[in-house]
Amino acid sequence: MLDLLLAACLSFPVHAAMEEPPKPEAPKAEPAKAAKKRTSVAVPEEDAAAKEKSTTPPVPKPAPKPKPLAPPPDTKRLVEAEARATKLAAENAKLQEALARKEVSGTSEIKSPGEALAELKTGNLRFVEGRRVRTLLASQDPELRQTLAKGQAPFAVIVTCSDSRMMDNFIFDQELGRLFTIREAGNCPDIQGIASVEYAVEHLGSKVVIVLGHTACGAVKAVAEAGGKPLPGNLWSFQAAMAGLLETTPEDPNESAGDHLRHLERNNAIRQAQIVLDRSEIVRHLVGAGKVQVLPAVYDLGTGHVTFLELPKAAKQGESAHH
Ligand SMILES: [Zn+2]
Repeated sequence: MLDLLLAACLSFPVHAAMEEPPKPEAPKAEPAKAAKKRTSVAVPEEDAAAKEKSTTPPVPKPAPKPKPLAPPPDTKRLVEAEARATKLAAENAKLQEALARKEVSGTSEIKSPGEALAELKTGNLRFVEGRRVRTLLASQDPELRQTLAKGQAPFAVIVTCSDSRMMDNFIFDQELGRLFTIREAGNCPDIQGIASVEYAVEHLGSKVVIVLGHTACGAVKAVAEAGGKPLPGNLWSFQAAMAGLLETTPEDPNESAGDHLRHLERNNAIRQAQIVLDRSEIVRHLVGAGKVQVLPAVYDLGTGHVTFLELPKAAKQGESAHH
């Protein structure tokens, strides 16, 4: 024991010496510098300093003093504020949900194309005004999933562009199970796209088919800019899908390039909606029976607003137009 203590006492000064910071060597260099300054008076001060820098070895700077520690945060106040914020957030979520339920009540049973369209329009208005509710009912997700796992009955089919900004559930403020979506660049449904529409209207009971184009559509722009020249890779298929669009939408010398593109996007939505009707006997039949409505529409990327368009009168009646 005594040995140990003695050893500890003996070793202490050694440790203490080791822990002392090394003394900066700066003072050593100081006299030389001072002497030099005194002897070379003719040299301008700045030049001398520069010369000094290049000839004398760099003087190690003394270790910077440790910064004083930031005052300890008022932990108690922070914890309290956090607790208050959590409580408020929980209350806010409850209020949001209550509001959402109130706002969406009565729209769960959509029996006609008119009701389906009205629901899409009110949902889009909520999105435009930044007060989505149906897509914010997060606490209902687990229950909703369980219900939907047993079956789906989407009230609307949305045929739209793959553009990352064309998130139809947000655009129409509709949660899981409400929209049946077909997305391909340029909102041009191919044969599988049309088959998907048929499946939704025939087997899932969807009441409307919206062919939703949008402003600043890259696919429409690419087709317009290529003119008659085939696009590379498989992109030529956009030109095939939009065949006739450029010819039927001639450039008006009075409209700007931007206006012409909007004109093309609008006409493309109308033409693609018409293609769904023309290529699907199932859709035509349901439209003719008044059970389904097919409508073109255009979404504005900036405002979020969806403008619903009309199909040309001759084509509007679906089945009757083809009999
Ligand atoms: Zn697009």
